[in-house]
Order: sequence, then C-alpha cells, then structure tokens
Amino acid sequence: MANLIDGKLISTQIKDELKEEVAELKKKGIDGCLAVIQVGNDLHHQCMCATRKKACEYVGIKSLSYELAEETTQEEILELIEKLNADASVNGILCQLPLPKHIDEDAVIDAIDPKKDVDGFSPQSVGAMVIGKPGFLPCTPAGIIALLKRSNIDIDGKSCVVVGRSNIVGKPMSLLMLRENATVTVCHSHTKDLKDVCKNADILIVAIGKPKFIDASYVKDGAVVIDVGIHRNAENKLCGDVDFDSVVSKVSHITPVPGGVGPMTIAMLMSNCVEAMKR
Ligand code: NDP
Repeated sequence: MANLIDGKLISTQIKDELKEEVAELKKKGIDGCLAVIQVGNDLHHQCMCATRKKACEYVGIKSLSYELAEETTQEEILELIEKLNADASVNGILCQLPLPKHIDEDAVIDAIDPKKDVDGFSPQSVGAMVIGKPGFLPCTPAGIIALLKRSNIDIDGKSCVVVGRSNIVGKPMSLLMLRENATVTVCHSHTKDLKDVCKNADILIVAIGKPKFIDASYVKDGAVVIDVGIHRNAENKLCGDVDFDSVVSKVSHITPVPGGVGPMTIAMLMSNCVEAMKR
C-alpha cells in the first residue's frame, strides 16, 4: 500500500516555522502585508481568498483584500497596482487569476513590482528561476519540491515526468525538478504515447486539468505520484487529475486530493511573503 504524502501536515509545519520567523522580524520592526486583488465574484476565487486570509492570520501577516467588480477596467486595476507598488507598508501583491476576458493578464502581471511579486509569475521572477538566481518561486511547484523533500523522497537522478506545461504549474515544475537534478520529460496535449512516457517515471507529476485522467495503466510499480489537479465531481466531492483508487495500490507514495498539493500552495505563498519582508 502506498504512503500518503500528507500536504496538510507538512504545510502546517512550514507555516509554524514561518510564524516564528515573522515574530522575530516583528521584533525588529518589520511587518508583513499581502495585498490580494480579486476581480469578479467567482465562488472558487472567494474560497481561495478566505483560505489565504486565514493563512496570513495564522502566520502573523496583515492581509488587504481588494474585491473589484467584474466590469472593472484594466486601467483601474493597473492604477491600483501602481498605488500598491508605491506603498512601502505592502510587501506582497497578488492578483487572482484567471482575470475576466477584457483584461490582459500579462499586462497586469508585468505591472506588479518584481520585489513584491509573491506569486512568482513576473518575467523577472521566471527568468531568475530559469538561470537559478534568487527570486520568488511560483507557489504550487515550489510546494511540490518541499513536499518531496520533507517526505524524504530522493529526486537526484530520478526520471521525472511532468504532465502539463502551463506557465503556473507544468513549466516551472519541470525547471525546479531539473534544478534538483532529476531527468525531466514534459508532456502536453501533443505528446504521443503519453501512457508509455508516464510509465517510465520514477516521479510522475500530473497537472492536466482533467478529472481522474491518469489511472493505473499510466503508472510504473513503485512510482511516486503527485496530483496537482483539483475538481469537484457530480456528488460535490473533490478529486484530482489522478484516479486515486486505481493507482494507490501500485505506487510507493501519492498525494491525496484534497490534502496533498493544495495546502502547500498556500504555505509557499506565505513563505514568499516572509521572503519579501526580509528583503
Ligand atoms: P492548464 O489548463 O493551464 O494546463 C493543462 C496542461 O495539460 C496543458 O499544458 C495541456 O497541454 C495539458 N493537457 C491537457 N490535456 C492533455 C492530454 N490529454 N494529454 C496531455 N496533456 C494534456 O492547467 P493548470 O496547469 O493551470 O492546472 C492543472 C490542474 O491543476 C487543474 O486541475 C488546476 O485546477 C490544478 N491546480 C491546482 C493548484 C493547487 O494548488 N493544487 C494550483 C494550480 C492549478 P497543452 O499545453 O498542449 O494545451
């Protein structure tokens, strides 16, 4: 039977460590403040905002929430970002994605001061990650590296397959695994023989956005499986991109959904906020 990788437990350990760091920084007169911009009233975004707010409270960082109407213009968002960039009391800024279609997401991401880019999505942050310079790492991939390391899973020299190449998960994930000396293969919707490629993986990371897509036929015996996907099924229950029940008896380690990657994304956001405070 597989070992469950407990993202809830590991994320709590990380937040506890950060809480201590924040207390130390406060003693030196350094306060943390994360500003979150949300456009429209998508229910999932609201849940994310509530979870972030709770994490900020837990760690000891102030959070500011800007809940803007769906019809807010790009200029209005850019003006707000400019104001937050100039506000010395704000050290982290993030804009909940995706944004409504009339707004150019790249323009919004570019507008955030790289020193406050705690999501790690700005071209400067991405460039620094690619060449291995210090900078903010994108939260979900960084959280997966922390999950693997804190679960004592060896990455060095392992064959890693990442399914998905989005800018926020798949691409940065492959770069971070490369940085840890894995031999990395990235798959996407044009990949031929996906099953055969996945079956070679010692570590299989799935960020495909399709419920229960990966079943036991894609997985090598004893592999480590990281499921990034989050979906709500017809019974309103959460599930991932991996068919957990099909795969669990075949693998050595697996992340559950919920309670795997999800909590780590928030913990790494808090970690980036603390990093921003230190800078
Ligand atoms: P995207 O939709 O942006 O990317 C999906 C990727 O999967 C694309 O690169 C796409 O390929 C690839 N893909 C789609 N279908 C196939 C297929 N049949 N075979 C191979 N590859 C395929 O999704 P995200 O990366 O943003 O998110 C992925 C999942 O992770 C979602 O379920 C999302 O909800 C979840 N998520 C969870 C987070 C967490 O904190 N737990 C954080 C972020 C995301 P192509 O590029 O060719 O189109």
